[in-house]
Amino acid sequence: MGKVVLVYPKRDGRVLGRVPGSPYTLMRLASLVPPTIPVEIWDENWADLPYHRLRPGDLVGITSMTNSIDRARQIGLRAREHGATIVVGGVHATLCPEDVAQWADVVNVGEAYRTWPQIVQDHFSGGARPFYHDDAWNSLEGVAPLTDHVIAQVQENHRYWTPYLEITRGCPRNCSFCTAIRVSGQKMRLRPIEEVIEEIQRRQIRRFFLTDDNFGLNFRLNPDYIVALFRALAKLPLTGWTAQAEQMVGKYPELLDLAREAHLDKFFIGFESVNPRNKRNLGGKARGLQDEYRQVIKTCHDHGIGVVGLFVFGFDEDTLETFEETWKFIRESELDSVSVTVLTPFPGTPQRAELEREGRLLDVPWSYYDTAHVTFIPKQMTVEELKQGYDWLCRKVYSPHRIIQRGLRTLSRYPLARRSRKLMVSFGTDLGYWRTYRYRYAS
Ligand code: SF4
Repeated sequence: MGKVVLVYPKRDGRVLGRVPGSPYTLMRLASLVPPTIPVEIWDENWADLPYHRLRPGDLVGITSMTNSIDRARQIGLRAREHGATIVVGGVHATLCPEDVAQWADVVNVGEAYRTWPQIVQDHFSGGARPFYHDDAWNSLEGVAPLTDHVIAQVQENHRYWTPYLEITRGCPRNCSFCTAIRVSGQKMRLRPIEEVIEEIQRRQIRRFFLTDDNFGLNFRLNPDYIVALFRALAKLPLTGWTAQAEQMVGKYPELLDLAREAHLDKFFIGFESVNPRNKRNLGGKARGLQDEYRQVIKTCHDHGIGVVGLFVFGFDEDTLETFEETWKFIRESELDSVSVTVLTPFPGTPQRAELEREGRLLDVPWSYYDTAHVTFIPKQMTVEELKQGYDWLCRKVYSPHRIIQRGLRTLSRYPLARRSRKLMVSFGTDLGYWRTYRYRYAS
C-alpha cells in the first residue's frame, strides 16, 4: 500500500532557525489517516521537499492560500511525475475550485475534516472523485483530534516558534473583503473545552496563536463558554497566547481580567480603517472612529493585555490623505504592534464581485494576492498612488526606530522580573511584519 503525504508550500521559510507557525491543519488531517496507512507531513518552510521518496500510488495532499497556489501547482505537477495522485484543499481551492481543478486530480472545497477520510479511503480502494465538499459547517465536537504519532513527527516545540491552535471557528459578521467566512462559515462554532485542554497538554505547548477567525466576538455571543474556557486555561502552565478580536472586547472588562488570568497576552484587533466613510465595508465591527480605537487600546492595556492594530488600505473612500491620517493615529496611539495591508479582492468575496462588475481588476498573477501588492484599480487614487502610499506607510511603521520604540513600550508594561522572558512577545510581532513586508516588496 502507498503512503499519504501532506504538503505545506513554502511561505516565509525559517527565521532564526525555526519556522514561524506550525502546520496545524495538516497535523489534524494527518491524524485522520487510518493507522494502517503511513502518513507524513512535508513542510517546505522547514526543509526542501524529498520528491525522490514518492512512489506510484501515493496520495499527496497540498494546502494552499491564493498567493501560494502557483507554488502548490509546481509541487503537484512534480509529485505527479513520480506517480502520485494530487489532492488540493485550503483557502484557494475553496474559493476558486475550478481554477485548481485545471491541474489537480482531486479538489476539496471547504474544511476537509469530514471529507479527507473519505478521499483517503476512495483513493486506496480504487479512485477518488474530482470534487469533495465539506461546507456544511457542522459541529466541532470530536473533530480531528491530534494523534501522538503526528505530534511526535512534527516536533512543534523544536521546529516552530509558535504552535497554532483552534478553539472556535466562523464569524457571523460580513466584511466585504473577508475570505475567512467563505471558508469557515458565518456560524460561530465552539470546540468542547475539555478537548482543547487535553490537546494543549498532550502537545506540551506553553504558547500558541489562535487561528480562530474572530475569537473576541465570543465575549458577546458565548460569554458562559468564554468564562469556563478562561478558568480552565488559567490552570495550565502557559507563558502566553494571542487571539484575533474586534474592538467590542473593550466593553467586557470582567472578561478581560479573566483573559489575563488565562495567560492571554495580546489581541490582534481589526480596526481596518481610520476613515469613517469606509464603514459600509467593515461588517459592523469597526466604524473608523479613532476615539473608539484609542479607548479599546487603553482598556486592554489597563487589563494587562497588549494590542496589535490591523489596518487595510484601498477602500473606495480612501485617498492619499488616508495614509497620513493613519500614520498620525498609529504614531500617537499606544499600539504594541501594527499590521498594514493592501485591500485584496480574493475570489468569492463581494468585494471582488463589485470590482469585477466595474472592470477594475488588474491582470496580475495569484502570487500578487499577498495583501502587499495592488491587484485592482482604486477609486480615488491611481494604482501607482496606492502602491506608493502603502510603501510610504510601511517605511514609517516598520522603521527600526519605531519597532524599537513600540517594543520597549510593550516591554515596560511587564514587571521587571518577567521582562527578559517577554522580549520575543514585545518585539517579535513587529519584526515578523517587517520581515514579511520586506520579503514581499522584494518579490
Ligand atoms: S470580523 Fe473578521 S472574520 Fe468576521 S467577517 Fe469581518 S474580517 Fe471576517
